[in-house]
Amino acid sequence: MTYHSFWYYWAAFFGLILVRYFAVAGGAYLLFYGLPSRFSGGTGNTGGTGNTGGLLGRRLRSKPPQLQAIRQDIYLAMQSTLFFATAAAFVIWRYDRGETCLYADLSAYGYFYAVTSFGLVLILQDSYFYFIHRAFHQPFLFKHFHAGHHRSGDPTPWTSFAFDPAEACLQAIFLVGITFIIPLNFFVLIALLLTMTVWTVVNHLGFELFPASFSRHWLSKWLIGSTHHSLHHRKYRVHYGLYFTVWDKLLGTDDPAYELEFDDSLRSEKLPERLPERLPEKLSRQLSD
Ligand SMILES: [Zn+2]
Ligand SMILES: [Zn+2]
Repeated sequence: MTYHSFWYYWAAFFGLILVRYFAVAGGAYLLFYGLPSRFSGGTGNTGGTGNTGGLLGRRLRSKPPQLQAIRQDIYLAMQSTLFFATAAAFVIWRYDRGETCLYADLSAYGYFYAVTSFGLVLILQDSYFYFIHRAFHQPFLFKHFHAGHHRSGDPTPWTSFAFDPAEACLQAIFLVGITFIIPLNFFVLIALLLTMTVWTVVNHLGFELFPASFSRHWLSKWLIGSTHHSLHHRKYRVHYGLYFTVWDKLLGTDDPAYELEFDDSLRSEKLPERLPERLPEKLSRQLSD
């Protein structure tokens, strides 16, 4: 078995995490924003059929994204990559010395445990994210820890990994922490990281992908999607979760208008007057006063 230095792993993970960001966020951006027709008119779609016309009718923003906002998001994401690469390198570096709870043989704890550990970490991460995210929306913490994530206003896939350094650091610490506490198979860890990547891109997509029943269905109403998280970016005081709506519902930060907003998100011709594009600037002015 070959062991490498911390900095060897750090360089490898820095490249890997950055390539992952540009591939997934960039790919989603090209797919959903690459064609000017997505924002240049059309009659919208109220039925959510999923074809190109349906996609136009499922947009959650009134204007095309600003290049400046995308640049800011990419800059923050590159900063975040520094923290996540450090976390990943640290974990593997300590794994080489037998100090983590990561394991390679899937049968060591059984398949049932592997699936259970996947679900458990999703729940733990969602809870951790909810409480730090809610704290970050206190005015002082917002200004120093979280304003960067909201700077672009309505999000795009590029916003999915755009965190202020302090927030990126706290999120990376969670991922390090679980590998020292909960026995996790490598495949489970990779599945968790892929889930996190894809889910956050969907949350920041700016298009609603799910069917009209999503916000009311007995099962999917517990899941966060594009409209749900877009409301967070518009209203600031609702929807702090990452994967699940449980904490928002339990602690009263669920937007009572969510179901109606979801219905409206499938009727985009109403959106221009409902999506205040410059709200973040107004909020940052208030915070700096
Ligand atoms: Zn926020
Ligand atoms: Zn967000």
